[in-house]
Amino acid sequence: MSPTAAQHSDGLTVADLVVTYPGRPPVEAVRGVSLTIAPGETVALLGPSGCGKSSLLGAVVGTIAPAAGNITWGDEELTRTPVHRRGFGMVFQDGQLFPHMDVARNIAFGLRMAGVDRDERDRHVKELLALVGLEGLGARAVGELSGGQRQRVALARSLAPRPRLLALDEPLSSLDAELRRRLAVEVREILRAAGTTALLVTHDPAEAETMATRVRRMADGKLI
Ligand code: ADP
Ligand code: MG
Repeated sequence: MSPTAAQHSDGLTVADLVVTYPGRPPVEAVRGVSLTIAPGETVALLGPSGCGKSSLLGAVVGTIAPAAGNITWGDEELTRTPVHRRGFGMVFQDGQLFPHMDVARNIAFGLRMAGVDRDERDRHVKELLALVGLEGLGARAVGELSGGQRQRVALARSLAPRPRLLALDEPLSSLDAELRRRLAVEVREILRAAGTTALLVTHDPAEAETMATRVRRMADGKLI
């Protein structure tokens, strides 16, 4: 295969994905979703609470096993690949930072796990702090950050291992409206600057429009 063809085949493909939860009757959270994301794109899935967004995202990153369907990256079949082998990153609504680590150690976490040496780690953390507008705050305890700063640290931490896809689950929903507007623009710029391919899920139309290069609507487990 030529390099060009390989590049064209890169990106995420979700095919006929079904996610169900046990129960009587079982809950069909995702009911046959197909979606592609090209490298460098940020696709937003926009839909109301309960429509299946987090379930879809969980199946993509690998925290939820789908009942049917396939997840592939280029030609690489990932449907049954464990979370940590997919090369994907994840940002949650409430950041989920490690409370006992300072900002720099939070950001470096994935790099340490990957065995990146200390000098390289320090250098990369410095770059990431600059990227998310937190220069000089590496030694700050995460408990002493504002909500917006915390989400920026969460973003830097997820970007550190250079994921081929970043999944963001309502990343700004815990913030107040004014900050949410500002940060949506910032996050978009950060994702563009890093060349990140991203899948964002949100119930906020403004957030979707601001952050995404393409918006798809979701309702009742399906794309509409
Ligand atoms: P969204 O993220 O769009 O709010 P979810 O994917 O969280 O939607 O939920 C989709 C549907 O699946 C909802 O009806 C929800 O109640 C149900 N659901 C989500 N997680 C579970 C679970 N662990 N067990 C059973 N039902 C679940
Ligand atoms: Mg959700």
